[in-house]
Amino acid sequence: MTSKIAAYLRDFAPATPCLVLDVDRVETNYRRLKAALPLARVYYAVKANPGAPILGRLTDLGSSFDAASWEEIQMCLEAGARPENISYGNTIKKVSAIQAAYAAGIRMFAFDSEPELMKLAAHAPGAKVYCRILVENKGAEWPLSRKFGCEMEMARDLMVLARAWGLDPYGISFHVGSQQTTTGAYEVAIARVASIFTDLKQAGINLRMVNLGGGYPVRYRAEVPEIDAFGDAIMGAMTQHFGNDLPEMLVEPGRFMVGDAGVVSAEVVLVSTKAKDDPVRWVYLDIGRFGGLAETEGEAIKYAFRTPHDGTVEGPVTIAGPTCDSTDTLYEKSNYRLPMALEAGDRVELISTGAYVTTYAAQSFNGFKPLAEHYI
Ligand SMILES: *Cc1c(COP(=O)(O)O)cnc(C)c1O
Repeated sequence: MTSKIAAYLRDFAPATPCLVLDVDRVETNYRRLKAALPLARVYYAVKANPGAPILGRLTDLGSSFDAASWEEIQMCLEAGARPENISYGNTIKKVSAIQAAYAAGIRMFAFDSEPELMKLAAHAPGAKVYCRILVENKGAEWPLSRKFGCEMEMARDLMVLARAWGLDPYGISFHVGSQQTTTGAYEVAIARVASIFTDLKQAGINLRMVNLGGGYPVRYRAEVPEIDAFGDAIMGAMTQHFGNDLPEMLVEPGRFMVGDAGVVSAEVVLVSTKAKDDPVRWVYLDIGRFGGLAETEGEAIKYAFRTPHDGTVEGPVTIAGPTCDSTDTLYEKSNYRLPMALEAGDRVELISTGAYVTTYAAQSFNGFKPLAEHYI
């Protein structure tokens, strides 16, 4: 938690549950990433947190944006981003959204299938297109499975088609899975991309861009490698496979850019047990799965907690949200422990919750309002 957030919580004690996010930390993260990968252009993955102050600050810093929908594109434009600095990175787009984006000047689109490429050829003529390939998501705590990307062979064929259909076959993208804790995942993926570049060169198509995607991790309960380690691994693999003929490089960080810039402040609603001698207490908070903590599904992302009693005797807990839905249980199997002194009415903080929280909140499930947001 940054000192600015600590001071804000102390001085204003905003109503819970809420997210307090330090926009200066977003700037620090942007600069750290630029320092780790000076040759890469940064396309912030807007879906991680589309808060207007974040988009505004990143625009001022010269960042570009990876948008998942026409609505996100509009948010970027409203924040002052120029259309040439926005990539429409979702491989699943309605025709109406492609048309709106194209009319607004967006000229860079992702795809991973022939039917989607056909849509782009028809409604975004001449645009730069890049094909997303399937890669291993091993080592990622929030893997993206097989939903996005296609096999390499198909990517090659589609890039040939792209040119035949009047599009600009620009490059290849991948995503190694979110909260990727191993640098090797990028190295393996880069090797695959390089082989596609080589094959297509033989077909007379010179690709110009490698989109390295997102995945760069944030520290939650466990240590993760520093961003410099990812930068070194990526540059090492790029020079190994492309030599002096480096293509343009893009990165699409989401979590890394905003995760550790935000803290959720919540209230303990109830501390109870299921039997008199049960050592495990149930701690119910006023935020849960439906209040924005969607990434606790399967206990995938393990947030760290701060309480007013830190440093005193702890005991095992199950942590749950406030709704009348049994899936609204956050952590049951991940060996969480919280102070024995914790009681209803205490305020607790969930550390590094700036990414993938605000927009995941349900509208009004059980009558609970979406998470309040404070950008400072
Ligand atoms: C979600 C997403 C990202 C951001 O991923 P992080 O793991 O948050 O860095 C980047 N690119 C694409 C295409 C995405 O869908």
